[in-house]
Amino acid sequence: MAGAFGRYKGDAVFDKMRESCGVVGVFGHPEASKLAYLGLYSLQHRGQEASGIVSFDGTAFHLEKAIGLVSDVFSKSRLSRLRGSSAIGHNRYSTAGGSALENVQPIMVNYALGSLAMAHNGNLTNATVLRAELEAYGAIFQSTSDSETVIHLIAHSRQPYLIDRIVDALKRVQGAYCLVFLSNDGLVGVRDPYGVRPLSIGKVQGGYVLASETCAFDLIEAEYIRDVEPGEMVQITNKGLASFKPFAKTALAQCVFEFVYFSRPDSTIFSRPVYSVRKRLGRELARETAVEADIVIPVPDSGVAAALGYAEASPSLRYETGLIRNHYVGRTFIEPEQSIRHFGVKVKLNAVKEVLRGKRVVVVDDSIVRGTTGRKIVKMIRAAGAKEVHMRISSPPIISPCFYGIDTPNRQELVAATHSLEETRKYITADSLAYLSIEGMFRAVYGTASDKGTHFCSACFSGRYPIPLHDEKHVQMGLFDQTHLPVLN
Ligand code: AMP
Repeated sequence: MAGAFGRYKGDAVFDKMRESCGVVGVFGHPEASKLAYLGLYSLQHRGQEASGIVSFDGTAFHLEKAIGLVSDVFSKSRLSRLRGSSAIGHNRYSTAGGSALENVQPIMVNYALGSLAMAHNGNLTNATVLRAELEAYGAIFQSTSDSETVIHLIAHSRQPYLIDRIVDALKRVQGAYCLVFLSNDGLVGVRDPYGVRPLSIGKVQGGYVLASETCAFDLIEAEYIRDVEPGEMVQITNKGLASFKPFAKTALAQCVFEFVYFSRPDSTIFSRPVYSVRKRLGRELARETAVEADIVIPVPDSGVAAALGYAEASPSLRYETGLIRNHYVGRTFIEPEQSIRHFGVKVKLNAVKEVLRGKRVVVVDDSIVRGTTGRKIVKMIRAAGAKEVHMRISSPPIISPCFYGIDTPNRQELVAATHSLEETRKYITADSLAYLSIEGMFRAVYGTASDKGTHFCSACFSGRYPIPLHDEKHVQMGLFDQTHLPVLN
């Protein structure tokens, strides 16, 4: 889900989009909206800007949505208004003007076949083109979100049943989507044929639940059944669960960054437990980038699992907690102003002096985006008395923005896209800096000796975009011409 139409000029339109969302759906449970609420609560890391739930009580739909964290948005009275045994919910993150309430999901509309609510995780890559076409036919958009395009396409379809209208609509869109729909008949969940974002199916007390990550199931004591498969559509009604595969098969492009950073480590996504993958990323990192040191510490919380793996693979290094995180501060990454972001790191993290004083320290984090956090952290560790600071990153350098639903800044702001390794090391003021290789990352993901990442999208690390980027802005950015990009081997 993104909200960026017309708010930026030129390339910046798509370069600047930021969206990372969590979706949930519940069917056949007397407390559907409460389960949706708890599900959203455990998916808070996927989007902190706004939250919403739509429920259906057999007669009427009820919608509550607002800007803010899940716990702020849903007061007791708000939740009590969300009556019914089915519900869908959405956590949203977007920046710059996109934060208007009309962009907050779920989207709820009345159309030819009745009422329909929809929540979207991911990002469409031909939404501008489709929107222009729909507007030319008279469609009046209510928001600046790419997700609304899907709703208009459904409304324009001539098919007699919702399920066929959804298929009609999705055959026209390109990009990454996990969608949950709520109609008078039930719940529908769809995952795009590339399988970019995760979506899982669970059962809870006779009812069904869909969620972006399995950590949502744990909180509501739902049993994980399986993932919605790439290109699969599941329809959940009083008759049970029906599965359809209406789309042409294509090569998978599951987002590897979900493993690196985005998903919670207690989730299982793309059939792999995130925690184990993250630990293996750390082991591979140690193997590839070993350095003489005394201790290894994580950047909390993002580097914890990788640092544990790094320590396991480095018998001479002791694992320590050298940085303490204040858990009551939001992610620095989402602060819009550079000045606030600098401040944010200090608010969020503090060094443990007695651990770091006089030590040669390896500090592990999952990724470097702008480099702002790394620079602050290295300075903080040195100020606490460390003799040497060696920064190790459990993913390859991020060199390209994501157009499929992860919040990354534009290319110019990605430090690894504009600076050499040595320049970046100097910028973050570390004694040494090393990243994991792309091959090492995929060894960790697969848990096998070698793999080239056939089933994954690693565009942020490679610059190779597996899903066509159709919108005019992508063409302007030269992203159709990929011949200049290095071939992975
Ligand atoms: P930066 O200061 O821009 O280099 O940010 C790096 C930090 O942001 C790392 O600690 C990452 O864990 C974290 N990070 C990476 N990607 C994201 C993202 N999409 N949203 C929020 N935080 C992120």
